[in-house]
Amino acid sequence: MVGVSAALALQARGRKVVLIDRRPAADETSHGNAGLIQREGIAPYAFPRSLGKILSSALNMTPQANLHWRAVPWLVPFLYHYWRYGTPERIASTATAAKPLVERSIAEHEPLMEAASVQHLLRRTGYLKVYRNESALDVELAEDEFARREWGVTSEAKSGDEVRMLEEHLTGPIAGGILMPQPLSVSDPGAVGKAYADLFMQRGGTFITADASTLRETADGWQVLRVEGPISARDVVVALGPWSDTVLRRIGVKLPFFVKRGYHMHYRALGNAVLSRPVIDGENGYVMSAMTAGIRLTTGAEFARRDAAATPVQLGKVEPKARALFPLGDRVDQTPWLGARPCLPDMLPMIGQVPSRRGLWIDSGHHHLGFTLGPVSGRLIAEMMTGAEPFTDPTPYRVDRFG
Ligand SMILES: Cc1cc2nc3c(=O)[nH]c(=O)nc-3n(C[C@H](O)[C@H](O)[C@H](O)COP(=O)(O)OP(=O)(O)OC[C@H]3O[C@@H](n4cnc5c(N)ncnc54)[C@H](O)[C@@H]3O)c2cc1C
Repeated sequence: MVGVSAALALQARGRKVVLIDRRPAADETSHGNAGLIQREGIAPYAFPRSLGKILSSALNMTPQANLHWRAVPWLVPFLYHYWRYGTPERIASTATAAKPLVERSIAEHEPLMEAASVQHLLRRTGYLKVYRNESALDVELAEDEFARREWGVTSEAKSGDEVRMLEEHLTGPIAGGILMPQPLSVSDPGAVGKAYADLFMQRGGTFITADASTLRETADGWQVLRVEGPISARDVVVALGPWSDTVLRRIGVKLPFFVKRGYHMHYRALGNAVLSRPVIDGENGYVMSAMTAGIRLTTGAEFARRDAAATPVQLGKVEPKARALFPLGDRVDQTPWLGARPCLPDMLPMIGQVPSRRGLWIDSGHHHLGFTLGPVSGRLIAEMMTGAEPFTDPTPYRVDRFG
């Protein structure tokens, strides 16, 4: 989503663009996510500050997080850095920096959806957070009230009965919920990404299958190698999501990238049960959303090395809870899908030029919000690369902000 969107935005500003991927477009993280365009997602997913929450996460006692203990020696510097960004002051400054991007996310997606003819995949229903437990609901309501006051995020408190009126097939005792009316969602995020890539090609763009880890600097720009001969350009945008780090390190750019892995599985719905909008189980941190392939259940964050073998324990923990909340039938997929959210410690994306490396640009690190922020980030990087007035101050997303 991020690379395709940057390609479209540069093309729209008159640049000749070649999009390079080793796989078909939108086959990786941008395919497997929950499909939310999180217009409400201004506050970052911060590192917990209370000892209780840190311990329960570290000991894998909550379904929201899973830690690979053997990855801890490698993870410690990243988690420490992430923890330092979890103070109220730093969360507030991250939110302030994220706001201009998040606020514009829908406005940038919509014209692309129309041009790419995928509006039928779009739902304007918002999403619903559901709570079994009154006190957990109260904590969340207080946080949402804060987000409304500080950042203008809209939310609507719902009683248990009102939740059932919105989603009549939810089961079991429900204390209440919160409707987030602003976000949009799609029923097939991979199809949206592929349609954007098709649009880029219909508009004259070139898509080439090649390995970006062959990227190297030349006398007058950048080159990616392939059997048919090198592809050369004056400027290159590294938008490789969770793999950005691998390619950047090879050319001497070291950044504190880490990943939060996540899983999904599709289920058939039993009988005539339907979900009209994505539902988030606020106490267990998973999302259920009706997708083309079935009801997609996506999990919270797994702290592990990006390429470690899949350990879908969170899916195992939340599946019974999801079955108790909605009549899920058989699993549709043979194995759970595994993806990795590309993260930086401050939970802001990196959008800008690498200092003192002429023509080297980065558009990556979109953490939990890459599907949401792809098009708006594409707009910003294209404005910067073509010398246009950026629609917002790009300083908070600069490449050298970690020193
Ligand atoms: C479980 C889960 C749920 C999520 N839910 C949401 C959500 O609801 N809303 C939201 O906004 N975000 C969500 N996210 C986050 C979002 O999916 C990511 O931030 C986003 O997809 C990142 O997009 P990207 O284009 O940067 O990376 P990707 O989509 O991973 O694209 C990177 C591309 O780089 C290519 N590549 C990698 N290495 C090479 C190489 N060496 N050579 C050539 N090509 C290469 C890959 O093939 C891939 O196509 C979720 C993530 C997860 C894991």
